[in-house]
Amino acid sequence: MILPPLRYVRPRTLPEATTLLTEIDGSAVLAGGQSMINALKLDLAQPTALVDVHRLDELRGIEVTADGTLVIGAAVTYAKIAASPVVRRLQPSVAEMAEGLVDRQVRNRGTIGGNCCLNDPTNNFPPLLAALGAFFHTASTAGRRSITTDTFFSGSLATSLRLGELLTSVHIRPLEVGTRVAHRHLQLAADSWALARAVVRLDVIDGMVDGARVVLGAVPGSPLRLTAVEDAVTGRQADASLIEPALAAFDGSGVEAVGDAHASAAYRVEMAGVQLRRAIESAVEHDVEQETTRSTAA
Ligand SMILES: Cc1cc2nc3c(=O)[nH]c(=O)nc-3n(C[C@H](O)[C@H](O)[C@H](O)COP(=O)(O)OP(=O)(O)OC[C@H]3O[C@@H](n4cnc5c(N)ncnc54)[C@H](O)[C@@H]3O)c2cc1C
Repeated sequence: MILPPLRYVRPRTLPEATTLLTEIDGSAVLAGGQSMINALKLDLAQPTALVDVHRLDELRGIEVTADGTLVIGAAVTYAKIAASPVVRRLQPSVAEMAEGLVDRQVRNRGTIGGNCCLNDPTNNFPPLLAALGAFFHTASTAGRRSITTDTFFSGSLATSLRLGELLTSVHIRPLEVGTRVAHRHLQLAADSWALARAVVRLDVIDGMVDGARVVLGAVPGSPLRLTAVEDAVTGRQADASLIEPALAAFDGSGVEAVGDAHASAAYRVEMAGVQLRRAIESAVEHDVEQETTRSTAA
């Protein structure tokens, strides 16, 4: 479908952007456009104006704060994240996630901010960032806010961003020495959306799990922390003996799963259990800080 006529503005500064978003009724942010342009073509979104934040300096950097927190600007592309030695060193799972995302065209245009703000159930970054315990900085004409992932991702295709509020950066605290992060997902083909995704972060001290964050993606509409699984693995030896209590604590019946043309809700829940087991196996079997793998449906 041909795009409907609409106003396009490209502010030069962050205050200019937030003012435009407040002043223009029905305006929307345009970042990489990899979802927004499709939504316009399919008439799924009808903004009156697009405020292009792609070139705002404040949203384009990758920095490290004095305490080692990695700060990625909301308009940083997947390609730039994947190519960043700093991201690769401090948060390898983030670089690997960006590197494995779809195809070169999407990686060159799509942004980490757009990925999180859309919060499509199948998007790669929301579950990973939820497991890493990341937080988000936002700006609007009303001021700035810092929001945790637990609050930011509020539902399928929904976030806690307010009208006229812009995501400016994603913050990821440094990993502890014993932290292991592993993620697994199931997809029908290399360039298709995930049907089930599990991300596991284990903080290990002296061979014991001191804390955990376990998150499902693609199955529920929004990243879902499995707190019962987190509790079940905490305080235990960080080895294969974790798997049984972790799976026993995973209650698939409590997951409100998405069912669509690609897979039924029941199949996704079943596959979520499989990805969860594989992610935990991966986190405990190898004494490595981070690992990523992908499975392909038979
Ligand atoms: C063929 C294809 C396959 C894809 N497959 C996958 C996949 O497997 N996994 C995956 O994760 N993604 C996938 N994507 C989606 C892609 O990752 C998009 O890039 C992402 O969903 C949106 O990022 P964007 O920068 O393109 O944002 P845009 O499309 O520009 O914006 C998306 C939404 O976020 C809002 N927004 C963007 N930035 C901000 C901000 N800073 N503050 C406030 N609101 C903001 C916009 O208003 C809009 O509502 C695919 C896309 C295509 C075209």
